[in-house]
Amino acid sequence: MDENEKTPVRGGISIELEHIFPIIKKWLYSDKEIFLREIVSNACDAITKLRRLNSLGEADVELSGEKIWVELDKDASTITVIDNGIGMTKEEVEKYICQIALSGALDFIQKYEGSEADAAQNGIIGHFGLGFYSAFMVSDRVEVITRSYQGGPAVKWTCGDDGNYEITEDYDDPDNYVPGFGTAVVMHISDEGKEFLSGWKLREILDKYCAFMPEEIYFDDGEEKETKEGEEPKEEKPVNDTHPLWQKNPSDCTDEEYKAFYQKVFHDWKEPLFHIHLKADYPLNFKGILYFPRIASEFDSLEGQIKLYYNQVFVADNIKEVIPEYLLMLKGVLDCPELPLNVSRSYLQNSGYVTKISQHITKKVADKLNSMFTNEREEYEKIWRDLKTFVEYGSLRDRRFFDRVKDSVLFETTDGTYRTLDEYLEGAKEKHENKIYYASDVTAQSKYVKMFRDEGIEIVVLDRIIDTQFISVIEETREGVKFARIDAELADAFKADGDKTELPAVAECFKKAAGEHTKVEFERLRDEKTPAILNIPEESRRMNDMMKLYRMGGDLPLEQTLLVNTASPLTAKLAALLDEGKEEDAASLAKQIYLLASLAQRQLSADELVEFLAGSYDLLNRLG
Ligand code: ADP
Repeated sequence: MDENEKTPVRGGISIELEHIFPIIKKWLYSDKEIFLREIVSNACDAITKLRRLNSLGEADVELSGEKIWVELDKDASTITVIDNGIGMTKEEVEKYICQIALSGALDFIQKYEGSEADAAQNGIIGHFGLGFYSAFMVSDRVEVITRSYQGGPAVKWTCGDDGNYEITEDYDDPDNYVPGFGTAVVMHISDEGKEFLSGWKLREILDKYCAFMPEEIYFDDGEEKETKEGEEPKEEKPVNDTHPLWQKNPSDCTDEEYKAFYQKVFHDWKEPLFHIHLKADYPLNFKGILYFPRIASEFDSLEGQIKLYYNQVFVADNIKEVIPEYLLMLKGVLDCPELPLNVSRSYLQNSGYVTKISQHITKKVADKLNSMFTNEREEYEKIWRDLKTFVEYGSLRDRRFFDRVKDSVLFETTDGTYRTLDEYLEGAKEKHENKIYYASDVTAQSKYVKMFRDEGIEIVVLDRIIDTQFISVIEETREGVKFARIDAELADAFKADGDKTELPAVAECFKKAAGEHTKVEFERLRDEKTPAILNIPEESRRMNDMMKLYRMGGDLPLEQTLLVNTASPLTAKLAALLDEGKEEDAASLAKQIYLLASLAQRQLSADELVEFLAGSYDLLNRLG
C-alpha cells in the first residue's frame, strides 16, 4: 500500500507550541549538542522499559540483541536514532509526543520573559519533559516511525519546526526502520544544525554523553568501510561501555581496572594516587569513583573533573552544587539517579538531598585519608606532598572536613621526617611547649635553620601561601598552640643566663643604623659569635603576607626587632667606641652589624647592598 493512499491525521500540537519552538531553538543555543543525548537516552529507556515489562511478565517478547543505532547520512542531511525497544502505538504517540507538558512550560516562560539567559541556565527543556523536542534545536523536520511491542502496524509522526504535525497510521516503513518493534527518530538537520552532520563531531558527542549508557549503541557514520582483500570485515563494536566500573562491587574490581578506567575517562596518563569507590544505599542511593590525581606543584592545574551521571547518562562536569568546591580538585564520576536528568542550578542549591550527598562524600574522603594514615603510614607519607594542598584547602573551606582529618595532617620537617601536630608538640614539650617553629624558605632562612637545629629544635617546612592560612585554622582550634617562623622570635633555648643590661647609647646607635621601624632589644645569647639577630614578629608578617596576596599594599617596611647579643665581644666593642667618643666608627660598626643581621634574615635591598659592600671594603682596607 502506498503511504499516500492513507488519510493522515493532521493537527497542530497546540497553539501554544508556537511559543515553545522559538524558545527551544533560542534558549538552548549554547547547548545544542545535548539533542543527541536526549534522543539516545529515550531510546535507551525504551529498551530498558521493555526488559522490565518482560521480567514483570507484563510483556512476552523474545529479547535478543537489544541495541541502538545512530546513523549519519550526510547526503540526505539526516541523523537517525533507531532502537528496538518498547515502541509506541498511535495513542501513545499522541499522548507522549504530542501532548507535551505545556502548562508548566508556559508558566515558566511567562515568569522568565525577558531573562532568557536565566531560563537557559535553568534548563527549561528537561524541566518539563521536553527532551524529545530538543531535536528541533538542530532539525527543521523530525519524523518518528514506531511500532509497539504489543504488535500492530507501524505509525509515522512527522513534525515541522512550526509545530504542525501529522500522524500516518498503518505506515509501511519502506526503509524498514522498525521491522519488529521499536522506534526510529529521523532528524532532518537544519542550517543551524549543520555542524552535526559530521561523523567526527557525532562520535565526540556520543563519547561525552553516552559513553556509559546502559544499552549498546552502534554508530554508523555513513562512510564506506574499506576492507582489504581476504580480510574479514571488522566486528562492529558498541561506542559505549554498558557496565561502567562504578556500577560494580568494589570487591569485584581490580587495581588495574580502576587505573584503566581513570585513564580512559580522564585521558590522564599519570597514575592517580588512590581511589575511593562510593556506594551509598537508600535513601541517598548514588554510586561513583573518586580519584586523587597527582598534583605536581602548587600551581599545577588544581582543577579536577567530577562527571555527574544520571543512570549512566552523562549530565555535566563539575556541578558545584553537588560536590563541595574543594573536592573539585579530584577527578571522578558520580551517578545520582535521584537527581533529575536536567537539573536546574537553583534546584540543586536548595536541595537537602544534595547537601546530604555532599556530606557523605566529605565523610568518605576523610575516612579514606584517616585509614591510610593509620594503616599505611609509610605509603601515606610518600604521597603527603600531593595530598597536602588538597587537605589544607579542604580544611579552609569546610571546618567539618578539617575536624575529620585533623589527626591525619602531617608536617614535614627540615630533615625530611613527617610529624603529626601531636607528635611534634610531644617533642617540643621541654624546650618550647605548644610552639611550632617553621621555615618558609629553607635556603633564605638558613642562618636561623642552623641556629634552631644546633639547639636540637625541629623545624617544619611551610613553604606555600596556603600553609599560612591553614596554620591559622589550627591555631584557632587548638588552644594555646602557636606557630612561629624561625625568624620571628628567639627560642628560649638560645638564651644564656647572665648580664643583659640595656645599653642606651648602643641602642641609640643601632636605631640610627636600622631606621625608625626597628625596635632594639638586648638579649644574652649562648652563641657569642653572632652580634645581633633580626626578628620580624609573626603576626605583623602574616598580615603583610596577606595584604600582598590580596594586593592591598604590604610594601611598607615591616616592624622588626633587632636583638643585640650582650654576650658578643662586638657589642662590647661598640660600647667602648661610643665611650671613647668615636661616633663615626661606632656608626659604621652598628651599620655593618645591622646589615649582616638583615642579610641573614632576607635579601638586602639594592641600596642596602651597596652600603654593605662599601662598609665591607672599608673594613678590609683598614685591616690591611
Ligand atoms: P521524557 O523522556 O523526559 O519523558 P521526552 O520528551 O524526551 O520526555 O519524551 C517524551 C515521551 O515520549 C517519553 O516519556 C516516552 O514515553 C516517549 N518516547 C520518546 N522517545 C521514545 C522512544 N525512542 N521509544 C519509545 N517511547 C519514546
